[in-house]
Amino acid sequence: MRVLIVGAGVAGCALYRRLKPLGFTIDIIEKSATLSSEGAAICLPANAMLALDKLGLSKPVLNLAYQVDQIEYALSSGKTLARASLHTAPLNKAPFVALKRDDLMSVLRKDIAEDVQLNTWLEDIKQDNNEVLVTFQSGETKAYDLVVAADGINSSVRQMVQPHSAPLTHKVTNWRFTAKKPVAGIQPTYYVGNESAFMIYPISEDEVYCYGQIMDEDGKFASLASNKAIQEVFSDYASPVTECINSLSEDQHIVLGQLKTVQHTEPLFNRVVLVGDALHGCPPSLQQGAGMSLEDINCLADFLEQHELHDALKQYQQKRADRVTWTVKESNKIIKLAGLGRSPIGRFIRNTIIRLKGPANVVGWRKLLTEMD
Ligand SMILES: Cc1cc2nc3c(=O)[nH]c(=O)nc-3n(C[C@H](O)[C@H](O)[C@H](O)COP(=O)(O)OP(=O)(O)OC[C@H]3O[C@@H](n4cnc5c(N)ncnc54)[C@H](O)[C@@H]3O)c2cc1C
Repeated sequence: MRVLIVGAGVAGCALYRRLKPLGFTIDIIEKSATLSSEGAAICLPANAMLALDKLGLSKPVLNLAYQVDQIEYALSSGKTLARASLHTAPLNKAPFVALKRDDLMSVLRKDIAEDVQLNTWLEDIKQDNNEVLVTFQSGETKAYDLVVAADGINSSVRQMVQPHSAPLTHKVTNWRFTAKKPVAGIQPTYYVGNESAFMIYPISEDEVYCYGQIMDEDGKFASLASNKAIQEVFSDYASPVTECINSLSEDQHIVLGQLKTVQHTEPLFNRVVLVGDALHGCPPSLQQGAGMSLEDINCLADFLEQHELHDALKQYQQKRADRVTWTVKESNKIIKLAGLGRSPIGRFIRNTIIRLKGPANVVGWRKLLTEMD
Protein backbone atom coordinates (compact mmCIF):
# COMPACT_ATOMS: atom_id res chain seq x y z
CA MET A 1 0.00 0.00 0.00
CA ARG A 2 1.26 3.51 -0.88
CA VAL A 3 0.74 5.94 2.01
CA LEU A 4 1.48 9.66 2.24
CA ILE A 5 1.72 11.19 5.73
CA VAL A 6 1.48 14.99 5.67
CA GLY A 7 3.16 16.53 8.73
CA ALA A 8 5.99 15.27 10.95
CA GLY A 9 4.67 16.34 14.36
CA VAL A 10 3.47 14.04 17.16
CA ALA A 11 0.82 12.26 15.06
CA GLY A 12 2.77 12.01 11.78
CA CYS A 13 5.97 10.66 13.34
CA ALA A 14 4.12 8.21 15.57
CA LEU A 15 2.07 6.90 12.64
CA TYR A 16 5.19 6.49 10.50
CA ARG A 17 6.74 4.42 13.30
CA ARG A 18 3.68 2.15 13.46
CA LEU A 19 3.19 1.71 9.68
CA LYS A 20 6.79 1.26 8.56
CA PRO A 21 7.18 -2.27 10.00
CA LEU A 22 3.95 -3.31 8.21
CA GLY A 23 5.80 -3.11 4.90
CA PHE A 24 3.82 -0.19 3.43
CA THR A 25 5.53 2.22 1.03
CA ILE A 26 5.37 5.45 3.01
CA ASP A 27 6.32 9.03 2.23
CA ILE A 28 6.30 11.49 5.13
CA ILE A 29 6.50 15.19 4.30
CA GLU A 30 7.01 18.27 6.47
CA LYS A 31 6.44 21.87 5.47
CA SER A 32 9.13 23.32 7.76
CA ALA A 33 12.77 23.52 6.75
CA THR A 34 13.89 21.79 9.97
CA LEU A 35 12.43 19.33 12.46
CA SER A 36 11.83 21.58 15.42
CA SER A 37 9.06 21.72 18.02
CA GLU A 38 7.10 24.68 19.29
CA GLY A 39 5.68 24.97 22.78
CA ALA A 40 8.17 24.77 25.70
CA ALA A 41 6.91 21.61 27.42
CA ILE A 42 4.03 19.16 27.28
CA CYS A 43 1.90 17.39 29.90
CA LEU A 44 0.97 13.79 29.18
CA PRO A 45 -1.99 12.34 31.07
CA ALA A 46 -2.17 8.57 31.67
CA ASN A 47 -3.93 7.77 28.39
CA ALA A 48 -1.07 9.38 26.46
CA MET A 49 1.39 7.16 28.35
CA LEU A 50 -0.71 4.07 27.57
CA ALA A 51 -0.65 5.02 23.88
CA LEU A 52 3.13 5.56 24.03
CA ASP A 53 3.45 2.14 25.64
CA LYS A 54 1.75 0.62 22.61
CA LEU A 55 4.39 2.31 20.44
CA GLY A 56 7.12 0.87 22.67
CA LEU A 57 8.09 4.40 23.74
CA SER A 58 6.79 4.83 27.29
CA LYS A 59 10.17 3.92 28.86
CA PRO A 60 12.31 6.43 26.92
CA VAL A 61 9.67 9.12 27.56
CA LEU A 62 9.52 8.28 31.28
CA ASN A 63 13.31 8.56 31.44
CA LEU A 64 13.07 12.18 30.28
CA ALA A 65 9.86 13.12 32.10
CA TYR A 66 8.72 14.06 35.59
CA GLN A 67 5.86 12.16 37.19
CA VAL A 68 3.28 14.05 39.24
CA ASP A 69 0.94 12.83 41.99
CA GLN A 70 -1.94 15.27 42.31
CA ILE A 71 -3.72 18.20 40.70
CA GLU A 72 -4.74 21.36 42.51
CA TYR A 73 -7.07 24.16 41.42
CA ALA A 74 -6.66 27.42 43.32
CA LEU A 75 -7.82 31.03 43.16
CA SER A 76 -5.29 33.54 41.84
CA SER A 77 -4.67 34.48 45.49
CA GLY A 78 -3.41 30.95 46.10
CA LYS A 79 -6.46 29.79 48.11
CA THR A 80 -7.17 26.13 47.28
CA LEU A 81 -10.46 25.32 45.52
CA ALA A 82 -9.99 21.57 45.00
CA ARG A 83 -7.36 18.84 44.94
CA ALA A 84 -7.36 15.34 43.47
CA SER A 85 -4.91 12.46 43.71
CA LEU A 86 -3.77 10.86 40.45
CA HIS A 87 -3.17 7.54 42.20
CA THR A 88 -6.81 6.44 42.42
CA ALA A 89 -8.72 4.35 39.83
CA PRO A 90 -9.22 4.86 36.94
CA LEU A 91 -6.47 7.53 36.87
CA ASN A 92 -3.80 5.10 38.08
CA LYS A 93 -3.73 3.04 34.85
CA ALA A 94 -0.45 4.81 33.97
CA PRO A 95 1.62 7.75 35.26
CA PHE A 96 0.81 11.41 34.57
CA VAL A 97 4.02 13.12 33.44
CA ALA A 98 5.40 16.24 31.79
CA LEU A 99 8.60 16.91 29.85
CA LYS A 100 10.19 19.35 27.44
CA ARG A 101 8.56 19.24 24.00
CA ASP A 102 11.92 18.78 22.33
CA ASP A 103 12.53 15.71 24.48
CA LEU A 104 9.21 14.14 23.50
CA MET A 105 9.87 14.86 19.83
CA SER A 106 13.39 13.46 20.04
CA VAL A 107 11.91 10.14 21.20
CA LEU A 108 9.22 10.14 18.49
CA ARG A 109 11.71 11.12 15.77
CA LYS A 110 14.54 8.80 16.82
CA ASP A 111 15.82 6.80 13.82
CA ILE A 112 13.20 8.21 11.43
CA ALA A 113 14.23 11.88 11.09
CA GLU A 114 16.16 11.20 7.89
CA ASP A 115 13.08 9.72 6.22
CA VAL A 116 11.16 13.00 6.55
CA GLN A 117 11.08 15.10 3.37
CA LEU A 118 11.49 18.68 4.62
CA ASN A 119 10.32 21.85 2.85
CA THR A 120 7.56 19.84 1.22
CA TRP A 121 3.78 20.38 1.12
CA LEU A 122 0.75 19.76 -1.07
CA GLU A 123 -0.80 22.19 -3.52
CA ASP A 124 -3.65 19.95 -4.63
CA ILE A 125 -5.44 16.68 -3.92
CA LYS A 126 -7.71 14.80 -6.32
CA GLN A 127 -9.18 11.44 -5.48
CA ASP A 128 -11.49 8.76 -6.85
CA ASN A 129 -12.39 5.36 -5.46
CA ASN A 130 -9.09 3.83 -6.55
CA GLU A 131 -6.39 6.32 -5.55
CA VAL A 132 -5.43 9.82 -4.45
CA LEU A 133 -3.45 11.98 -6.84
CA VAL A 134 -1.49 14.72 -5.06
CA THR A 135 0.46 17.66 -6.46
CA PHE A 136 3.44 18.83 -4.41
CA GLN A 137 4.59 22.45 -4.27
CA SER A 138 7.43 21.46 -6.61
CA GLY A 139 4.85 20.67 -9.30
CA GLU A 140 5.51 16.91 -9.05
CA THR A 141 2.40 14.69 -8.96
CA LYS A 142 2.20 11.27 -7.32
CA ALA A 143 -0.50 8.67 -6.68
CA TYR A 144 -1.19 7.08 -3.27
CA ASP A 145 -3.70 4.60 -1.89
CA LEU A 146 -4.06 6.62 1.31
CA VAL A 147 -3.24 10.19 2.38
CA VAL A 148 -3.06 10.92 6.11
CA ALA A 149 -3.50 14.54 7.20
CA ALA A 150 -1.26 14.98 10.26
CA ASP A 151 -0.57 18.64 9.53
CA GLY A 152 -1.90 20.19 12.71
CA ILE A 153 -4.80 22.42 13.70
CA ASN A 154 -4.54 24.67 10.63
CA SER A 155 -4.38 21.58 8.37
CA SER A 156 -4.27 22.57 4.72
CA VAL A 157 -5.14 18.99 3.72
CA ARG A 158 -8.35 19.26 5.78
CA GLN A 159 -9.16 22.52 4.07
CA MET A 160 -8.62 20.90 0.65
CA VAL A 161 -11.02 18.03 1.33
CA GLN A 162 -13.41 20.02 3.55
CA PRO A 163 -13.59 23.63 2.35
CA HIS A 164 -14.37 26.34 4.95
CA SER A 165 -12.99 24.22 7.79
CA ALA A 166 -10.56 26.79 9.22
CA PRO A 167 -10.51 26.50 13.04
CA LEU A 168 -12.51 28.90 15.20
CA THR A 169 -10.58 31.26 17.45
CA HIS A 170 -11.55 31.71 21.11
CA LYS A 171 -10.01 35.19 21.46
CA VAL A 172 -7.90 33.83 24.30
CA THR A 173 -4.20 34.75 24.21
CA ASN A 174 -1.75 32.38 25.87
CA TRP A 175 1.92 32.17 26.76
CA ARG A 176 4.06 29.09 27.43
CA PHE A 177 7.54 28.93 28.93
CA THR A 178 9.70 26.97 31.33
CA ALA A 179 10.98 28.49 34.58
CA LYS A 180 12.90 27.68 37.74
CA LYS A 181 10.80 25.69 40.23
CA PRO A 182 9.33 28.28 42.64
CA VAL A 183 8.61 25.88 45.54
CA ALA A 184 10.32 22.54 46.20
CA GLY A 185 7.90 19.66 45.72
CA ILE A 186 5.21 21.76 44.00
CA GLN A 187 2.53 19.64 42.29
CA PRO A 188 0.58 20.79 39.19
CA THR A 189 -1.41 23.85 40.23
CA TYR A 190 -3.98 25.72 38.15
CA TYR A 191 -4.67 29.25 39.39
CA VAL A 192 -7.91 30.85 38.18
CA GLY A 193 -8.38 34.62 38.14
CA ASN A 194 -11.17 36.80 36.77
CA GLU A 195 -10.28 36.81 33.09
CA SER A 196 -7.02 34.93 33.26
CA ALA A 197 -5.58 31.63 34.46
CA PHE A 198 -2.07 30.31 35.12
CA MET A 199 -0.74 26.75 35.35
CA ILE A 200 2.49 25.60 36.99
CA TYR A 201 3.44 21.99 36.18
CA PRO A 202 6.79 20.46 37.27
CA ILE A 203 8.88 18.94 34.48
CA SER A 204 12.03 18.06 36.49
CA GLU A 205 13.52 18.43 39.98
CA ASP A 206 14.39 22.06 39.19
CA GLU A 207 12.07 23.27 36.45
CA VAL A 208 8.38 23.90 35.84
CA TYR A 209 6.29 24.37 32.72
CA CYS A 210 4.18 27.53 32.90
CA TYR A 211 1.06 28.26 30.87
CA GLY A 212 -0.85 31.53 31.22
CA GLN A 213 -3.97 32.69 29.40
CA ILE A 214 -6.27 35.72 29.28
CA MET A 215 -9.53 36.59 27.50
CA ASP A 216 -8.29 38.99 24.84
CA GLU A 217 -11.25 40.16 22.71
CA ASP A 218 -9.39 42.98 20.97
CA GLY A 219 -5.94 41.34 20.87
CA LYS A 220 -4.47 43.95 23.23
CA PHE A 221 -2.33 41.48 25.18
CA ALA A 222 -1.25 39.55 22.09
CA SER A 223 0.19 42.77 20.67
CA LEU A 224 2.41 43.46 23.72
CA ALA A 225 5.90 42.03 24.15
CA SER A 226 5.28 38.67 25.87
CA ASN A 227 7.53 39.40 28.84
CA LYS A 228 5.74 42.69 29.51
CA ALA A 229 2.27 41.18 28.98
CA ILE A 230 2.72 38.37 31.50
CA GLN A 231 4.18 40.78 34.08
CA GLU A 232 1.04 42.90 33.70
CA VAL A 233 -1.59 40.14 33.56
CA PHE A 234 -0.35 38.01 36.46
CA SER A 235 1.10 40.69 38.78
CA ASP A 236 -1.52 40.07 41.51
CA TYR A 237 -1.28 36.26 41.40
CA ALA A 238 0.05 34.17 44.32
CA SER A 239 3.80 34.10 44.86
CA PRO A 240 4.62 30.81 43.06
CA VAL A 241 3.30 32.45 39.86
CA THR A 242 5.05 35.78 40.31
CA GLU A 243 8.26 33.96 41.29
CA CYS A 244 8.17 31.97 38.04
CA ILE A 245 7.65 35.17 36.05
CA ASN A 246 10.28 37.15 37.95
CA SER A 247 12.85 34.39 37.42
CA LEU A 248 12.67 34.81 33.63
CA SER A 249 15.68 36.28 31.90
CA GLU A 250 15.33 39.04 29.28
CA ASP A 251 15.99 36.60 26.46
CA GLN A 252 13.76 33.78 27.81
CA HIS A 253 11.86 32.11 24.97
CA ILE A 254 8.12 32.58 25.52
CA VAL A 255 5.72 30.92 23.08
CA LEU A 256 2.79 33.20 22.27
CA GLY A 257 -0.44 31.66 20.94
CA GLN A 258 -4.19 31.98 20.42
CA LEU A 259 -6.60 29.22 21.45
CA LYS A 260 -8.43 27.67 18.50
CA THR A 261 -10.84 24.80 17.88
CA VAL A 262 -11.47 22.56 14.89
CA GLN A 263 -15.16 23.01 14.05
CA HIS A 264 -16.21 19.60 12.70
CA THR A 265 -14.46 16.46 13.90
CA GLU A 266 -14.99 14.44 10.71
CA PRO A 267 -12.10 11.98 10.25
CA LEU A 268 -12.68 10.46 6.82
CA PHE A 269 -12.95 11.84 3.28
CA ASN A 270 -12.85 8.77 1.03
CA ARG A 271 -9.09 7.98 0.92
CA VAL A 272 -7.96 10.99 2.93
CA VAL A 273 -7.98 10.41 6.69
CA LEU A 274 -7.42 13.00 9.43
CA VAL A 275 -5.42 12.35 12.62
CA GLY A 276 -4.15 14.49 15.51
CA ASP A 277 -4.84 18.21 15.67
CA ALA A 278 -5.97 18.22 12.02
CA LEU A 279 -8.95 16.22 13.30
CA HIS A 280 -9.47 17.51 16.84
CA GLY A 281 -7.23 20.51 17.61
CA CYS A 282 -8.73 22.35 20.58
CA PRO A 283 -7.73 24.27 23.74
CA PRO A 284 -5.36 22.34 26.02
CA SER A 285 -7.82 22.28 28.96
CA LEU A 286 -7.60 18.47 29.20
CA GLN A 287 -4.04 18.28 27.82
CA GLN A 288 -5.35 15.69 25.40
CA GLY A 289 -3.62 16.86 22.20
CA ALA A 290 -0.79 14.32 22.21
CA GLY A 291 -2.83 11.59 23.93
CA MET A 292 -5.69 11.79 21.42
CA SER A 293 -3.20 12.00 18.51
CA LEU A 294 -1.40 8.87 19.68
CA GLU A 295 -4.68 7.07 20.28
CA ASP A 296 -5.74 8.02 16.71
CA ILE A 297 -2.65 6.62 15.10
CA ASN A 298 -2.63 3.42 17.16
CA CYS A 299 -6.27 2.85 16.24
CA LEU A 300 -5.65 3.57 12.54
CA ALA A 301 -2.53 1.38 12.43
CA ASP A 302 -4.31 -1.50 14.20
CA PHE A 303 -7.15 -1.47 11.67
CA LEU A 304 -4.80 -1.09 8.68
CA GLU A 305 -2.89 -4.11 9.95
CA GLN A 306 -6.02 -6.24 10.31
CA HIS A 307 -8.35 -5.18 7.47
CA GLU A 308 -8.34 -4.12 3.86
CA LEU A 309 -8.15 -0.35 3.37
CA HIS A 310 -11.83 0.53 2.95
CA ASP A 311 -12.93 -1.44 6.04
CA ALA A 312 -9.96 -0.21 8.08
CA LEU A 313 -10.85 3.43 7.40
CA LYS A 314 -14.55 2.90 8.18
CA GLN A 315 -13.66 1.19 11.46
CA TYR A 316 -11.26 4.00 12.37
CA GLN A 317 -13.99 6.54 11.67
CA GLN A 318 -16.49 4.67 13.85
CA LYS A 319 -14.13 3.98 16.71
CA ARG A 320 -12.68 7.49 17.07
CA ALA A 321 -15.73 9.68 16.36
CA ASP A 322 -17.43 9.83 19.78
CA ARG A 323 -14.27 10.01 21.91
CA VAL A 324 -12.70 12.74 19.82
CA THR A 325 -15.91 14.80 19.62
CA TRP A 326 -16.47 14.53 23.37
CA THR A 327 -12.88 15.60 24.10
CA VAL A 328 -13.15 18.72 21.93
CA LYS A 329 -16.51 19.68 23.48
CA GLU A 330 -15.31 19.09 27.03
CA SER A 331 -12.09 21.06 26.43
CA ASN A 332 -14.15 23.98 25.16
CA LYS A 333 -16.54 23.67 28.12
CA ILE A 334 -13.60 24.14 30.50
CA ILE A 335 -12.57 27.30 28.64
CA LYS A 336 -16.15 28.56 29.10
CA LEU A 337 -16.00 27.65 32.80
CA ALA A 338 -12.86 29.79 33.13
CA GLY A 339 -14.70 32.59 31.28
CA LEU A 340 -17.36 32.68 34.02
CA GLY A 341 -14.74 34.41 36.19
CA ARG A 342 -15.55 37.72 34.50
CA SER A 343 -18.50 38.52 36.81
CA PRO A 344 -18.95 38.06 40.58
CA ILE A 345 -21.93 35.72 40.12
CA GLY A 346 -20.02 33.82 37.43
CA ARG A 347 -17.05 33.43 39.75
CA PHE A 348 -19.33 32.13 42.48
CA ILE A 349 -20.79 29.53 40.07
CA ARG A 350 -17.35 28.56 38.70
CA ASN A 351 -15.78 28.18 42.14
CA THR A 352 -18.76 26.21 43.48
CA ILE A 353 -18.61 23.79 40.51
CA ILE A 354 -14.87 23.25 41.06
CA ARG A 355 -15.29 22.79 44.83
CA LEU A 356 -18.11 20.27 44.35
CA LYS A 357 -16.82 18.28 41.36
CA GLY A 358 -13.05 18.66 41.82
CA PRO A 359 -10.47 19.89 39.29
CA ALA A 360 -12.23 20.10 35.90
CA ASN A 361 -9.43 18.34 34.02
CA VAL A 362 -9.41 15.42 36.48
CA VAL A 363 -13.18 15.01 35.98
CA GLY A 364 -12.55 14.72 32.21
CA TRP A 365 -9.59 12.35 32.59
CA ARG A 366 -11.68 10.01 34.78
CA LYS A 367 -14.20 9.61 31.96
CA LEU A 368 -11.53 9.16 29.27
CA LEU A 369 -9.65 6.55 31.30
CA THR A 370 -12.80 4.70 32.37
CA GLU A 371 -13.76 4.25 28.73
CA MET A 372 -10.38 2.85 27.63
CA ASP A 373 -10.30 -0.78 26.60
C1 LIG B 1 -1.16 26.34 24.18
C2 LIG B 1 -1.17 24.87 23.93
C3 LIG B 1 -0.74 24.00 24.94
C4 LIG B 1 -0.80 22.62 24.73
N1 LIG B 1 -0.44 21.79 25.73
C5 LIG B 1 -0.56 20.46 25.56
C6 LIG B 1 -0.23 19.56 26.60
O1 LIG B 1 0.22 19.95 27.68
N2 LIG B 1 -0.41 18.23 26.38
C7 LIG B 1 -0.87 17.75 25.17
O2 LIG B 1 -1.01 16.54 25.00
N3 LIG B 1 -1.15 18.59 24.16
C8 LIG B 1 -1.02 19.92 24.33
N4 LIG B 1 -1.32 20.75 23.30
C9 LIG B 1 -1.76 20.17 22.04
C10 LIG B 1 -0.62 19.49 21.29
O3 LIG B 1 0.42 20.39 21.08
C11 LIG B 1 -1.13 19.01 19.95
O4 LIG B 1 -2.34 18.34 20.12
C12 LIG B 1 -0.16 18.08 19.26
O5 LIG B 1 1.04 18.74 19.00
C13 LIG B 1 -0.80 17.61 17.97
O6 LIG B 1 0.10 16.93 17.19
P1 LIG B 1 -0.07 16.90 15.61
O7 LIG B 1 1.01 16.03 15.13
O8 LIG B 1 -1.47 16.58 15.26
O9 LIG B 1 0.13 18.40 15.15
P2 LIG B 1 1.44 19.30 15.24
O10 LIG B 1 2.24 18.96 16.44
O11 LIG B 1 0.97 20.70 15.06
O12 LIG B 1 2.30 18.85 13.98
C14 LIG B 1 1.90 19.15 12.67
C15 LIG B 1 3.13 19.10 11.79
O13 LIG B 1 2.73 19.31 10.44
C16 LIG B 1 3.55 20.30 9.84
N5 LIG B 1 2.75 20.95 8.80
C17 LIG B 1 1.84 21.93 8.93
N6 LIG B 1 1.28 22.22 7.76
C18 LIG B 1 1.85 21.39 6.85
C19 LIG B 1 1.67 21.19 5.46
N7 LIG B 1 0.79 21.90 4.76
N8 LIG B 1 2.41 20.26 4.84
C20 LIG B 1 3.32 19.51 5.54
N9 LIG B 1 3.53 19.66 6.86
C21 LIG B 1 2.79 20.58 7.52
C22 LIG B 1 3.93 21.23 10.99
O14 LIG B 1 5.10 21.97 10.69
C23 LIG B 1 4.13 20.21 12.11
O15 LIG B 1 5.43 19.69 12.11
C24 LIG B 1 -1.26 22.12 23.48
C25 LIG B 1 -1.64 22.99 22.46
C26 LIG B 1 -1.61 24.35 22.68
C27 LIG B 1 -2.05 25.27 21.59
